[in-house]
This record gives sequence, structure tokens and C-alpha cells, in this order.
Amino acid sequence: MKKATLIALLLFSFHYAFCWGFYAHKKINYLAVFLLPPEMMVLYKTHINFLSEHAVDPDKRRYALDIEAPRHYIDIDHYGNYPYDSLPRQWNDAITKYTQDSLMKYGIVPWWIQTMQHRLTEAFKQKDQARILKLSADIGHYIGDAHVPLHVCSNHNGQHTGQQGIHGFWESRIPELLAEKEWDFYIGKAGYINDPGNFIWSRVLESAAAADTVLTFEQTLNHEYPADQKFAFEHRNGIITRQYAQAYCRQYNRRLNNMVERRMRQSIFAVASFWYTAWVNAGQPDLKQLTNKHFSETDHKEFETLNQQWKAGPQTKGRNCD
Ligand SMILES: [Zn+2]
Repeated sequence: MKKATLIALLLFSFHYAFCWGFYAHKKINYLAVFLLPPEMMVLYKTHINFLSEHAVDPDKRRYALDIEAPRHYIDIDHYGNYPYDSLPRQWNDAITKYTQDSLMKYGIVPWWIQTMQHRLTEAFKQKDQARILKLSADIGHYIGDAHVPLHVCSNHNGQHTGQQGIHGFWESRIPELLAEKEWDFYIGKAGYINDPGNFIWSRVLESAAAADTVLTFEQTLNHEYPADQKFAFEHRNGIITRQYAQAYCRQYNRRLNNMVERRMRQSIFAVASFWYTAWVNAGQPDLKQLTNKHFSETDHKEFETLNQQWKAGPQTKGRNCD
């Protein structure tokens, strides 16, 4: 019995991680609200809990939809070497060169964010409150993912280099351990983005450039570190889980020179700026005068189904992050 319980706990510890982790995604959307101008705060601050809670809907959707997973990543190294000039930045040009099937296979996050931005702008134009909130929560998720180096790299969980688990280590374990007490989230104000496509491609290329550091620094630390001290058992919400040990996390974080904090801060700024840009491009509608203020029966059902499928499904469709 005890052995069975322990095995279950070990499995749990390897499956709890998600893209940027649930903790960080919720935090990114939550903090992005405070970068907005007062005209937007009237809506976003009032619904800050919705925006934060639903920041993880896209990850939950991966349990139900085959086409969801590729929206969270791009294996950009599949397209050659940095800065991957052979990959057209425009969606139609990329399809012509590589086919849609191939693009879907290696991930579409930079293009999907632009589609979401277009939809959010339309929702502002239609003054549709429920849609604005849902799309804002969703786009915050995808923008956050694009900032994670291992979301733009085919070795996304260190599976080619014997570093399985590094995905959740970087984007879940480290922020959960350090963000609340040690990181600075004073970021200033959202900015208007002239060219959202160019902006997000720049962020994706930054992530791509950092992926090698994320992997090689952990490999080096792993070799230098006493093997029996790399992991530790910790209480987590009343359950014992096997985690990367705190000292190991801190050491890795120091070597990365706070890269995780920097990327989280840049994610927050980007999310707020995409929201703000969509609102400006829609003609700055008065957010006190919106229609469709309540979520429909269908919306509520969809939220509930997402939760049920997420809780029931041990495996996501398509790529798993952890
Ligand atoms: Zn994700």
C-alpha cells in the first residue's frame, strides 16, 4: 500500500507542470492589469480574478482539442539556424513554403497570437464584454508561452539530452519558489505596439537564442552537483512531492542571471501592451458602455467542460509540457 502511494506521488510530481506553470500564467495575466490606463482598468480591474483564473484555459483545452497544442509552441530549430531567415514570418508565405500540415506539426505560436490579437480587436469594436474578457485571458496565455525558451525549441523537455523535467523546472518550479518573495514586478505602463507581428517574432527569437543557455547551464550544474542533493521531497498542498531541491533551483537561477524573472516581466509587459493595442486599434471604445456583460449558458458550460476534461485527462492531446 505504502509503495503504491509513493509511486502515485512520484508520478504526480512529474505531471503537475504545464506551460509557464499554472501559477506563473495566472500571475502574468493578473499583474498585466496594473499596467493599463484608467480607461481600461474599469473593465480589467473589475474582472481581474476572471483574467487570472482563465489564463490557463488554453492549457486545459489541450486535453480536448487536437489542434490546440501547436498554438503553444514553435520548434524553430527545425527551420535551420538562428535567426531562421528561411522561415517566412508571414503565415501565407510560410504555408506556401512548408504546407500547413508541416507548420502545425512544428508549432504556430507566433502566428496564433496575431490571430488572437485580430479577434480581440474585433471584440472591442463590437463592444462585446464577455468576448473581450475570454480573448484577453487566452491571448495572455499564448504570449506568455512565446517568452519561454523551451517553447521555441524541439528539445523542449530536455528529452534529447537526458534532462527530462527541465521544462517544468524552468517555468514552474523556479517561479513558484522565487517570484512571490524575491522578484520585482514593478513594470510601468503598457505601450502601443505598432507591428504586433514583428514584436512577437522578436520575442520568439529572443526565446530561441536563450534555449541553448537554459539547457547547457543545467547540464553543467547537474554534472557538478552531488546527485543525491538534486531532488528533495516537499510538502505541497498537503501532498509529498519530489521536486528539484531548493538549493539546486537557486544555484541554477543565479547562473541564468535571473532569466526566468526577466522573461516573466517581459511577458507581463507584452500581455498588457497587446490588450492596450487591441483597444486603441478598435477606436478606444468606452469600456463602461459595453454589451453582452454576462457569460452565456454556453460559456459557463464550456468553462465547466474544460475543467472536467482537464481533471479527468492524464494526457494532453499532442505535445505534453512536463
Ligand atoms: Zn501553454
